[in-house]
Amino acid sequence: MWWLPASSCWSADFLCFPAMYFGLVPCWVLVMGQVLTRTALAAVGHYHCHRRKDGIHDWADCFFDVQYVGASEVLFDGHVMLHHLYTETPADVKRTVFNFVLTLPRIWRVPLFTMTKFGEFFSGHLVRILNFEFRTRSKAQRFKEAQLIAFRCVMLAEFFWACFCSRWQIWCLQFFCTVWLNMFLIVASHDFEVVREDQSYVGLDWGIFQIQHALDTYITGVQAVDLFLSAGLSCHRVHHCLPYQKSGFANIVSLPAVKSTCEEFGVEWAPARNLILDRWFPLMWYYLTAPAQVPAIPAPIQTGGPGIWGFVKEHMLLRDYRRAVLSIWGSFTGATI
Ligand SMILES: [Zn+2]
Repeated sequence: MWWLPASSCWSADFLCFPAMYFGLVPCWVLVMGQVLTRTALAAVGHYHCHRRKDGIHDWADCFFDVQYVGASEVLFDGHVMLHHLYTETPADVKRTVFNFVLTLPRIWRVPLFTMTKFGEFFSGHLVRILNFEFRTRSKAQRFKEAQLIAFRCVMLAEFFWACFCSRWQIWCLQFFCTVWLNMFLIVASHDFEVVREDQSYVGLDWGIFQIQHALDTYITGVQAVDLFLSAGLSCHRVHHCLPYQKSGFANIVSLPAVKSTCEEFGVEWAPARNLILDRWFPLMWYYLTAPAQVPAIPAPIQTGGPGIWGFVKEHMLLRDYRRAVLSIWGSFTGATI
């Protein structure tokens, strides 16, 4: 029955077309509706991303992209193989989500990164999909490619429709809110911001490592509702132990079994955290105010240095502005994906 709420979200998302044209609902309702349905649909896309890649069983794979941050054309292996197999190790691609943002000077971080996401949305993803070199040209791969392109065209149609209805400001507002809400949601279910200097990856139990390095979160406390509000990440420890379950509802059903197995083997089961208060706000503060830096082991290198002078200096480095402008250009050509 998972498809019932999923298709409701999809229909609600589509309601933006008549709502924009006829001005059916107030601006804030439309923006909130778009942000919530996009976040919920990303959950559907996420679980389809883990499914068999034949264009049929994973038909909603492309919904992963609806919050403007996902990139289904690369995530079917980037997420499934690199994030899930190498969780929280230096090889985990999810760890790098904020790498580029953190290289930007603090004052310009939000506008420059938002522009990059717009470029990727506008043309970058389509160029990337069309340039993708498939090793074979099987029917399933052509079907998958067509699905990704069709979905990208629907997303672009929403933008052009909003411009046609002279409501591009509403589209821009929902784009901005959706991008930034989901950026912090993506990293909220792991402790990426914690620097573990002495972490060793030798002689570990994979299952125990997944339980210890993924976080469960809640918003309302009602699991079936939180599943949609959290982009499917609320029952995250079960998802990391059993990544090939076909939907987030299966994770909710399996939770007591996974929890009791952990108790049986003496693995600590940390309490779920409040997604908004314990994770979203602290992460937003951290990633928007952290000094401009480049990733390094064991700790990142600050480009401007520490303190007030470091803050001034990081805003005077022309090299970083040049890189940001090139990244914006690269986002339109698909080079940043
Ligand atoms: Zn996953």
